[in-house]
Amino acid sequence: MSEADIERLAEMVRQARRVVVFTGAGISTESGIPDFRSPGGLWTKYKPIEFQDFMASEEMRREAWRRKFAMDDTMKQAAPNRGHRAVAQLATRGKITHVITQNIDGLHQASGVPDEKVIELHGNTTYARCLDCHERYELAPIKQAFEKDETLPACTKCDGIVKTATISFGQAMPELEMARAQEAAVSCDLLLAIGSSLVVYPAAGFPIMAKRGGAGLVILNREPTDLDAIADLVINAEIGDTLGTVVGNN
Ligand code: NAD
Ligand code: ZN
Repeated sequence: MSEADIERLAEMVRQARRVVVFTGAGISTESGIPDFRSPGGLWTKYKPIEFQDFMASEEMRREAWRRKFAMDDTMKQAAPNRGHRAVAQLATRGKITHVITQNIDGLHQASGVPDEKVIELHGNTTYARCLDCHERYELAPIKQAFEKDETLPACTKCDGIVKTATISFGQAMPELEMARAQEAAVSCDLLLAIGSSLVVYPAAGFPIMAKRGGAGLVILNREPTDLDAIADLVINAEIGDTLGTVVGNN
């Protein structure tokens, strides 16, 4: 990472009045949660279970819960890192209107960004919901029953299928979050896209929307992304180091 890039990013943040931070799995790798597309990422180990397949067979639903509980040990130990903390500081200073995240790990909230500023496009993996009536279920009892004899959870209200409150590939996007993210993207004057390969749509559409609406676009990623060509500034560097330096909390 070059000092000139850091200075330019710091200056863009100073000048901006309404910043939106858009994050992907990359901001959480320093917390020990693997991303999808990096070498050794989850993608290389598991092909994601698509929503249609989850719905179609009990065996797929069992496999989904098996993976979920295996992953949970990593998730539970994860704490916010320097990247999350730098974003939270910007929120505390009133710079940030919203954090739009593709992450399901809840680490932005854990780092101190107020709940109402976090827009979770792909849901949250720390609880479950009935797919029909949307009743919320906590994970501990589901896990206990599943670990005993792989019992699949069913809704006690309507007998519907219970799934973690995340959005799978092929599943409809949450309408309220999509509308809020759109509003945030078109009304910001700077969007920082951090740690996302920017290939998953519709999520990756928000940086494009912000740019079209006249906002500045900065992409921070250790590798090139699909949207580098339209960005005002691309920084290929580690997220924690870079944001820590920019925000001044090493
Ligand atoms: P992705 O895996 O496609 O991309 C992550 C990007 O971050 C990569 O381009 C990688 O180069 C970059 N990166 C990783 N660590 C970095 C670091 N320390 N510094 C700089 N760059 C770094 O992730 P995505 O774009 O978020 O899309 C994948 C989907 O997977 C999302 O929809 C998300 O819902 C889901 N997911 C979420 C989590 C989580 O909640 N933490 C983890 C894995 C996957
Ligand atoms: Zn139900």
